[in-house]
Amino acid sequence: MSIAAIALLVVAAAVLSGLLVWRFMTYRGQRVIICPETQQPAGVALNAWLAARTPGDANLRLQSCSRWPERHDCPQGCLAQIEASPDATLVRNIVAAWYGDQQCVFCHRAIGMIEWHEAIPALRASDGSLKEWEGIAAEDVPAILATHNAVCWNCNLTEGFRREHPELVTDRAQTVLRDLAIH
Ligand SMILES: [Zn+2]
Repeated sequence: MSIAAIALLVVAAAVLSGLLVWRFMTYRGQRVIICPETQQPAGVALNAWLAARTPGDANLRLQSCSRWPERHDCPQGCLAQIEASPDATLVRNIVAAWYGDQQCVFCHRAIGMIEWHEAIPALRASDGSLKEWEGIAAEDVPAILATHNAVCWNCNLTEGFRREHPELVTDRAQTVLRDLAIH
């Protein structure tokens, strides 16, 4: 085999594997759909490697569902919702879109774009308690968003500290300079 042919093969392999990874990234992630059986939200994830390797909506299959193992043999009718709205069923997108329209309940600043790796905003429940996203199940996300207020990353930190260590926190009047220093 000539060097040119080998080079062509290497390039082709790189393109194909890049395409495979891109497709995998497109399909992976926790999603929330309305289960056709219960008409209630369920948390699901696609078999992303299967979908990436075999193009076409016909090869979409679930890898997990919050109703499993009880309904492990269900016909996966919810896949039609994912095919129709691949982006809008992703929990990450649902949460990001919600925060995009919210103001922090404490400082009233717009939350805006989420920095997922360093500054994830939090939530305040109707009883005033603060909640972070870790441990919240995908199927609970619609109910959580409907019943909680948004809390920006900064206020979650300061408010959380204030609640855990009230003896260390002295409230001072808000000033423009202090406000700028915090945010
Ligand atoms: Zn805030």
